[in-house]
Amino acid sequence: MNIDFNKNSDGLVPAIIQDAMTKNVLMLGYMNEAAYLKTMEIGKVTFFSRSKNRLWTKGEESGNFLQLETIELDCDNDTLLIQARPNGPTCHKGTNTCWNGTNEQSYGFLSTLESTISERVENANASNSYIASLFKKGINKIAQKVGEEAVEVVIEAKDTNDILFLEESADLLFHYLLLLRAKGYGLNHVVSVLKEREK
Ligand code: AMP
Ligand code: ZN
Ligand code: ZN
Ligand code: ZN
Repeated sequence: MNIDFNKNSDGLVPAIIQDAMTKNVLMLGYMNEAAYLKTMEIGKVTFFSRSKNRLWTKGEESGNFLQLETIELDCDNDTLLIQARPNGPTCHKGTNTCWNGTNEQSYGFLSTLESTISERVENANASNSYIASLFKKGINKIAQKVGEEAVEVVIEAKDTNDILFLEESADLLFHYLLLLRAKGYGLNHVVSVLKEREK
């Protein structure tokens, strides 16, 4: 790997540490060539600590090592993106990430939507939202809506109008998220089942 250690006079390059599973950023550290070579050798992320002024294998005292998965160079070879599996909380303050993060798996916009749904459900009486009113009608009504939207998807799949097919697909996905929430679950539970089947 052709890392440009000479761009900074101290011979250090920043290394962004990303959880290989959740893709969340865990921490940022610096590496010199010796730190990089040691990381490759032992398979645990090792930095050059500017405060300790020596090589520092993350987890050497706490046991919260970062097990190396992959190292990638950026566009101009001066920054590393390292994917790793953490043995425990990465921040020495006890949190999973150095930015107070929870390091949960995110499904991007769908996770934002799940949060919005939860918020509407929890503030049900205050709001005049569609979600809140549907929840008041109970779980059977929500399940029935999922059935209806599924049928609409089937109907539109047979048609040549792809706009309607995508609209009904969005309706189905939305109501399915509502049903999951009504049963006390989220996408993460369904994904776990799918992952288990892959084994
Ligand atoms: P550890 O490498 O986890 O055994 O922690 C040893 C020491 O390194 C801690 O007491 C902190 O001073 C420092 N340290 C550990 N984790 C971090 C971190 N994520 N960011 C900055 N300093 C850290
Ligand atoms: Zn760069
Ligand atoms: Zn930290
Ligand atoms: Zn519909």
